[in-house]
Amino acid sequence: MDRDFSRQNFLGDDSQEVFESTHVSVVGCGGGGSQIGTALSHIGFLNYTLVDPDTVDNSNLVRMLGATKQDVEEETPKIKIVERVIKGINPNANVELVDKRWQDAIGTSKLSKSKIIFSCLDSLRDRLELEAFARRHNIIVIDFGTTIYGEKGNYASCGQVVMSKPGGPCFRCVGFITDKALELEDQKYGAAGMRPQVVWSNGILANLAIGLAVDLLTSWSNDPKEVFYVHYDGNKLELKPNPNMKKLSEKALSCKCYG
Ligand SMILES: [Zn+2]
Repeated sequence: MDRDFSRQNFLGDDSQEVFESTHVSVVGCGGGGSQIGTALSHIGFLNYTLVDPDTVDNSNLVRMLGATKQDVEEETPKIKIVERVIKGINPNANVELVDKRWQDAIGTSKLSKSKIIFSCLDSLRDRLELEAFARRHNIIVIDFGTTIYGEKGNYASCGQVVMSKPGGPCFRCVGFITDKALELEDQKYGAAGMRPQVVWSNGILANLAIGLAVDLLTSWSNDPKEVFYVHYDGNKLELKPNPNMKKLSEKALSCKCYG
């Protein structure tokens, strides 16, 4: 039985062909990556590279779509869980599984064939490396993530969706990654402790990332997005353009960081 995509016809006459022929990668297949894989599969994407070296554990069940108690008992690799969800929806999907760090699979995987890489990474340094790789191969990176600050009784939750598109401003030029933030990250390295994350923040940001990807591929909105950096306030439950977007210089907009 063929799937019925008529409810998303507004995306364009050839949109389904575009989704079916586009190679997408998800780097980091935990809470955020599981949301991306699930949504992409519902939309009809068929060609994936999924990257994550980890297996699922008990703390992942609060936020990883598709993960079950049995997966925790069997220590199922996270990439296998996302693959299972994707293939449950599209049995014909081509899913390449990479059970190591993305840096260790550059020459042996289809990562460089991606049109879009969804970055669900924890560290800024990792993101910078991924962006450099993506620029070399003319790949769009859509990054999203959340952070929780503060202490008991006074927590602040925030997050971002930020795009690095070849020819447009990079993560440094939009002010997402700064020397100061990298320095702070290096100081805290090894003492990060638990990283708080919740399924709804992941879901909000992952689905915004998906909406951006679909728009980039189909242009259905007639609202071209060359630069994209959205701030999420998890306490107010608001999404807004990151304040940096108002003051991007010509130099930033015509980023030459990657030659
Ligand atoms: Zn730049």
